[in-house]
Order: sequence, then C-alpha cells, then structure tokens
Amino acid sequence: MKKFKGVSASAGIVIGKVFLYLDDNLKVPKYRINPEDIDSEMERFHLATKKVENDLKQIQTHANSQMVEEESRFLDSHMLMLSDPEFINQIESNLKGFLRNIEWILLMTVKQFIGTLKKAESPYLVERTVDLYDVTQRIHRHLMFREKISLADIDKEVIVVTHNLMPSDTATMNRQMVKGLVLNAGGKTSHTAILARAFGIASVLGLTNITDEARSGDTIIVDGNLGTVILNPDNETLIEYEERARKWLLHEKQLSKLDKLSSVTLDGRRILLRANIEMPEEADQVLVHGADGIGLFRSEFLFLKPSGFSSEDDQYVAYSDVVRKMKDKGGVTIRTLDVGGDKIIPDFETSDDKNPLLGWRAIRFCLARKDIFKVQMRAILRASVHGDLRIMFPMISGVEELEDALEFLDETRKELKNEGILFDENIRVGIMIEVPSAAIISDILAKKVDFFSIGTNDLIQYTVAVDRGNENIAYLYKYFHPGVLRLIKMVIDNAHDAGIPVAMCGEMAGDPLASVVLLGMGLDAFSMSSSVLPSVKEIIRSVRVDEAEELVAEVMKMSSFQKIEDYVSGWINERFDNISI
Ligand code: PEP
Ligand code: MG
Repeated sequence: MKKFKGVSASAGIVIGKVFLYLDDNLKVPKYRINPEDIDSEMERFHLATKKVENDLKQIQTHANSQMVEEESRFLDSHMLMLSDPEFINQIESNLKGFLRNIEWILLMTVKQFIGTLKKAESPYLVERTVDLYDVTQRIHRHLMFREKISLADIDKEVIVVTHNLMPSDTATMNRQMVKGLVLNAGGKTSHTAILARAFGIASVLGLTNITDEARSGDTIIVDGNLGTVILNPDNETLIEYEERARKWLLHEKQLSKLDKLSSVTLDGRRILLRANIEMPEEADQVLVHGADGIGLFRSEFLFLKPSGFSSEDDQYVAYSDVVRKMKDKGGVTIRTLDVGGDKIIPDFETSDDKNPLLGWRAIRFCLARKDIFKVQMRAILRASVHGDLRIMFPMISGVEELEDALEFLDETRKELKNEGILFDENIRVGIMIEVPSAAIISDILAKKVDFFSIGTNDLIQYTVAVDRGNENIAYLYKYFHPGVLRLIKMVIDNAHDAGIPVAMCGEMAGDPLASVVLLGMGLDAFSMSSSVLPSVKEIIRSVRVDEAEELVAEVMKMSSFQKIEDYVSGWINERFDNISI
C-alpha cells in the first residue's frame, strides 16, 4: 500500500481499478515482480507482439498500393524482429535475472541490442536501431493499453491515472466510465480540474510521479475531498474507505435537497448562484441544481473538435440550445473565444507562443483574427433572439482593447441588420476582470460595460505570478492572498460605484470558505461548476450579510493568507456544527 498527497481538484471518494493512460514521451514504468509472475509477464509480451504483428499486417494491406517497395520491406523487417528467437530469449533471460516488469525489461533489452548494433559500425545496422525503437514503442503501446485508445473508448469503470491531459482528452473522455482522475500535473484551477468538477469526477492532481508507481489494474482509492490517493490499499484501509465513500454519497444526497431551495441569506438577501459550463450538454445539470442561469459558457470547447472549428451555423445551434434551455431561468453569459494560454488547441497558431500565459491569447487573438471572431460574434448575436443572452470578453487588459472589441461588436450588429437578421438589440455586454491592470482601472472600464465578472483563476495567476497549472508552486496559489483580496474588493466597489453588477466566475466563487468573504464584500453573483453549487448555497443560506461584512472588515486588516484562511475557517466552524466543508 502506498499513500500520496496532491491537490484536491474535484470532490468525491471513489475506489476502483487503475487505467494507466500514458503519452508516448512518458517514462516506461519500472517495478519489481515475483518469480511466479515471469510466465504471465512473458504472456503479456507475446500478446502485445501478436497485436503489433496484426497492426503491421493491417498497415501493409491498407497501404500496399501506395507504398514503395522499400517501405514495405521495412515493415517486413519489423515483423521479423518481433519473432527473432535471439531477441525473445534475451527478453526472457533478463526477466528472470532482473525480476522487473516486462515494459522495463523490453526497453532494457532493446538498449542492449542497440549497443551491439552500434558497435558493428555498419551504417545499415545503425539505421536498424530506429526500426527497433519503432517496434518497441508499438509493443509498449499495447502493453500499456495505448493501442489507438482514447479516453472516449473506455468501456468499463476505471480510474484514469496519467501524466497530464489535454483539454480535448478531458472533453471527449467517456464520463460514464471514468470514475476518478489522478494526475502527475495540474493545480486546482487547471482546465482538467475545472472539467473534472463540471463532470463531478473525483480528482486529485499535482502528484508529480504517480504514473511511475501505478499499474493498470491496481486497486486505487481517490479521495478528492482531501487530495489523497492510496494505491493497493490493505484490507483495513479498503474497509475504512468503503465506509467513507458510502457516507460521502449520503452527504451528496443530503446536499441535493438544497437544489429546490433558493439562495437567500438569513436576513433575506437574494444572491445569484450561477453555473459555469464548458459543453452545451451540461445545461441539463445546471437545471437540476436549480442555478440562476449560466454565468460563464466557456465557448472555446466548441473549437476543440478534431474536425476543426465550428461553423457559424454549428455555433449558432449550440448557443441557441443553451439559451433556450435557460430562458426564464437566469439566462446565459457566453464568453467569446479564450484560446491560447493554458487553453491550448493542438496545432493551432497560438501554440507556438514562447510564453503562452502572457502571449497571444483570448481577446488579443480574436482581435487579430477577425475572420474567426466574426463567425463567433454573428453566431452569438443570432442566438440572442432565443432568450436572455449576455456576451462577455475575456482577458481585457485596457481601454483600447475594450474599445476595439466593442467597435467590432457594433460592426457585426450593423452587418446583421443590413442582412435583415434578427438579434437582441439590447444585448448586455460585459468583460472578465482577470488581468491586474484591468482590476486597477476597473473604475474606468466600469463606465463602458454592463457588467463585470471577476476571473480569479487568471487574476491570481497574474497577481501573484504563479502559473495556475504548475504543481510545484501550487502552495502559492491562494485566494486569500491579501493582494488578491484587495484587488477583488476594489473591483466590486468600483463596479457598484458605477452602478453595474459584478459577478465572479473563477473557481474561488465555488469555494464555500471563500463564498462568505465574497458575500461580505458585496459580490452580486457567484458562478461555479454546478457540482459545487449546493455547498455554496448551504453557506449562503446559513449567514447574515452584516456578519459576513464584519468578517471582511477583520480579514482586510490581516497580512498573510495563512492567517486569513485560518481565521475564516475558524469563523465558519464556530458558527456551524453541521456545515459540510
Ligand atoms: C478565470 O480566469 O477565472 C476564468 C473563469 O477563466 P478561465 O478559467 O477559463 O481562464
Ligand atoms: Mg481566465
């Protein structure tokens, strides 16, 4: 049994079997085996080589017509390698001698062979080393269940253990079967964490090297509440966690009773609790949790399709569906494309940025690629006739950028008007406040828009200079940093002075501990993954605004995030015995 501590990214306690999902550059795992495992390890090897043989034959049949003779011969030589008795004998003898797993023994044996080939000083034989590596990689893929597998193909309940996930991996994975997510990389506000919360999948991230320790089929416990992972638990631990998992499900059931109740403080202030969504399908879940509409629709996930960007009509259909569902239910805030930074679309233009987080992303990209922006803007405006739709620009850093975006919106409106296409003429336009410069001049920006939404995920990243996805510095990523709290308070005050409402759609808004502080600061709307909405509602319904304001007055005098965190959690625990955080 081994215990690991990481970042708790999405709540829940699950027990299941590991599905090790490794990318090709990842280290081959190395672990001890018992002498009685030798036969089964050899069997895995033979099975994997058989599959590679089949793959190669298939490649040959499909491609033979276009394949030049020489290429075809290479594939033949690959196949010969797989059945070379010398190679297989060496594998078996290394397996017996070193008593390590077959993936590692294979790599080691190949390195021995390559050493010998290189000594031969024949260019032909040296070239064959590439083929050897190629075949080895193919076998490894099968051994590590990577044969053409995507997370979308998983067909039994598993807990995915991996180095890192691309947003497209997370977006397309089979959510019915993936019960837990465990990653080497990532912090609380990385995109994997955000999606895991959106899908309600228990997750622990930032574990650095768990992929070196876990093997497919191992039993694993994921405690997303505490950020703990236990690999191959002993019986006692297993029984303890089965009980904890049962209690957690009970607790969730309890919380779900709040879905039907409104979010009103003890002294009667109605607070808007909205949902963040990444995919149009999530809208149903939003309705289940009784949210006050959608406060952030991250539209970039519509752009992650393997088939390329969505057309104007496809985007129009996706936005309209969501807007219709939310009609009379609080409406929808659609954020325009926030590509780049940590939202990397493979092979996309922005992926060459040397410093993506400070680079060509979000509104900067859209204003430079107006062809792409225009398609989206038209689709959003067209969808606005179906309900209450608000439009929001991400990553605004200053007045000029905002004015350019507003001008572009106006131009698109005129275009649609000339074409006789209907849209909501009074559509509300807001911006995300997620760049410190925008927070600092929020008094100026507030006069130009209808609402603000504070994006703490990026605001904290840029204020504290801490990459939100980097597990090594996750300890610095704190909502309660006094510098962050001052900026948030300033934005809320400036918005109210200008008479506009201010929401928050960063993950901080969904943290029950932070919610009481934000309430005391006067935040008008909280937007979060719908799975955490009941926990925040529980807090809102249990406090009075004046006591939250007093809490804020105390907190704003404090100098360190640790002191603030301890003070706020003490304050909450003192008041509520049965609050579930
Ligand atoms: C944010 O930065 O807080 C935010 C909500 O946007 P994203 O997480 O998509 O960058
Ligand atoms: Mg952001």
